[in-house]
Amino acid sequence: MKVTFLGTGTSQGVPVIGCDCLVCSSLDFRDKRTRSAIHLEIDGKSLVVDTGPDFRIQMLREKINKLDAVLFTHEHKDHTAGLDDIRPYNFSQKKDMPIFGSRKVLNQIKREYSYIFDEVKYPGVPSVVPNEITNNPFSVEEIIVTPIEVMHYRLPVFGFRFQDFTYITDAKHIERKEIEKIKGSKVLVLNALQKSHHISHLTLNEAIQLTEIIQPKVAYFTHVSHKLGTHQEIEKDLPAHIRLAYDGLKIYID
Ligand SMILES: [Zn+2]
Ligand SMILES: [Zn+2]
Ligand SMILES: [Zn+2]
Repeated sequence: MKVTFLGTGTSQGVPVIGCDCLVCSSLDFRDKRTRSAIHLEIDGKSLVVDTGPDFRIQMLREKINKLDAVLFTHEHKDHTAGLDDIRPYNFSQKKDMPIFGSRKVLNQIKREYSYIFDEVKYPGVPSVVPNEITNNPFSVEEIIVTPIEVMHYRLPVFGFRFQDFTYITDAKHIERKEIEKIKGSKVLVLNALQKSHHISHLTLNEAIQLTEIIQPKVAYFTHVSHKLGTHQEIEKDLPAHIRLAYDGLKIYID
C-alpha cells in the first residue's frame, strides 16, 4: 500500500491569506500546506479520502491519472469543496465515480452539488454513484475498509482503517471502543491542529497522548494550522516514531 499526503493543512490552508507570521512566510516547502486529504494505492486500486478545495492541484501535482473511488470523512467544506473536479476522471475512465459517506455527508453533497443530481443534467457535470456508509466495515472496489467514528466537537466524523493503516482527521475525542478498532495499526495518521486548546480539534499534546495509547509503529500528524509552528521547529521536538506530515509525503506499508 502506498499512501500520499495530498494535503496536510487545516481549513484555511498554510500560508493563510494576509498573514505574515513566521510559518506563513517560511520558505520551507513543508510549511506550504494545502487542505487535508490522502491518496491510497492499494491492490492496484486508486482511492482518495476527501476532495477539498485543493483537490485539482493536488491530483495534478501527484500525477494521479486514475481514480476508482472517493471516501468522505465528513461534510465540512475543506473536505468536500473539490468534488466538481472529479470530472476529468469521469471523462477519461468513461464511468461514474463511486463516492462513500455517511447519510449526513451524502445529503449535504446532494444539497451543495444539486446540479449533479438534477433529473435533466447540464452536459459535462460530474457523475457520481453515492454509497451510504454506517459505522460498519464496507468494501470499496473489493478493499475492506473499517470506519472509525470520532467526534469533531459534536459532529461525528469517520476515520478509516485500511489493513494496518488508519487515517483520522478532524477528531477531538475518540471513544474507547473506537480506539480498540485502531489498535494494531502499524501506521496511524492523526490530526494535530496547534499547541493551544481548540474546541473541535486535537492539540499537538492530545495527539501525542492518543498516539501513546494506540501505539502504532509510526504516527504522522496532519490538518496543521499556521499556529502550530514551522515544520522544522515542531518536528525536532517530537519522539522519533511521531512525524509531522507534509504535502507530497509518501509512505509505503506492507
Ligand atoms: Zn477539516
Ligand atoms: Zn500565519
Ligand atoms: Zn471539519
